[in-house]
Amino acid sequence: MREIYMDHSATTPVDEAVFEAMIPFYTSQYGNPSSVYSKGRAARRALEKAREQVAALINAHPREIFFTSGGTEADNQALVSYMMNNSHRGKHLIISSIEHHAVLDTCEYLQKIGFEVTRLPVTPSGLVEPDTLKQALKPGTILVSIMHANNEVGTIQPIKELASIAHEAGAAFHTDAVQTAGKIPVDVKDLGVDMLSASSHKLYGPKGVGCLYVKKGTKLGKLLYGGSQESNMRGGTENVPGIVGFGKAAELAQTRMSEQIAHLTGLGKKLQKGIVEKIPRTIMTGDPENRIPGHVSVCFEAVEGESVLLMLDSYGIMASGGSACTSEALEPSHVLLAMGIPAETAYGALRLTLGKDNCEEDIDYVLEVLPRIINSLRTSSPLR
Ligand SMILES: *Cc1c(COP(=O)(O)O)cnc(C)c1O
Repeated sequence: MREIYMDHSATTPVDEAVFEAMIPFYTSQYGNPSSVYSKGRAARRALEKAREQVAALINAHPREIFFTSGGTEADNQALVSYMMNNSHRGKHLIISSIEHHAVLDTCEYLQKIGFEVTRLPVTPSGLVEPDTLKQALKPGTILVSIMHANNEVGTIQPIKELASIAHEAGAAFHTDAVQTAGKIPVDVKDLGVDMLSASSHKLYGPKGVGCLYVKKGTKLGKLLYGGSQESNMRGGTENVPGIVGFGKAAELAQTRMSEQIAHLTGLGKKLQKGIVEKIPRTIMTGDPENRIPGHVSVCFEAVEGESVLLMLDSYGIMASGGSACTSEALEPSHVLLAMGIPAETAYGALRLTLGKDNCEEDIDYVLEVLPRIINSLRTSSPLR
């Protein structure tokens, strides 16, 4: 059977060249980067090379890159550690209502331990309006965290403008750029952010590795206590093969970026147009202009998203509903609800996220299969 992977916002396959680069660090070059002998020093050099590669992708200095176990840990460290280390200046934090659970749930924890959190509303296309942020800032606000692009609906936020508003009010700015790093230009200096999270497995690198960019001078400490690794910002022996893979993936992403943007934008537009034309009662979700290339998100009225996913899977097509993280709970997505989409419509959410190996034929196949699936589910549905 055909196998068509269209869930690249959930994870990506490891690129062959990335895997090749990692292998020696599992076999011959297994040294601990903290060891003084040559095998240890070789691992250390590989780690520092990866730091340069990742820094180059986001226009940071290598010393501003701290490796973590992924996007989730980077988000946790940015929020928890920043609030803890700067609480003498205030206890208020602002996020958007459409953040990933790595930010949302971390904020629930921060509230439990005495911090105050404001969740900003978004427009129907999922944008945080600069004025909304302006109104929420107050003297005790020390940090604003707004994601660069949303994983469920693909909307890209005006980070540069939002960060400058936060700074004018004396607050630091963090962005979860897990969905954009490696896909579109992400330049920490141009965006003007103080902290930024990225993850390797969303850009054709291995799972379980990510990083937190921390602008020089930002007061932050560790989340994981232990050894003095990562300039004393994260205890624990470094995941050397993973970090090497992340570095290689970042380098490849940078070289391929403009070609990939063109490829994914073209395919994404074709898929989106085809779906709307062929399937009645389809609602496009997210922003039509400011969105991740190759990210197609819709809601079908009068169908249940889970059933669509299972039917697609039976045709070899892999996609997701609201978000991968909430797909186990039968609750409509918090993102779609925050965008004002009624719960009964949000249940019919489908997200198709394209990647480098998808081609025109994949799109044609989905456009042949999907309308039939929706039609057959609707004729048998009690929601009709
Ligand atoms: C995937 C994702 C994360 C989590 O990253 P992990 O490396 O899987 O922990 C965080 N934020 C966003 C927006 C994501 O898409």
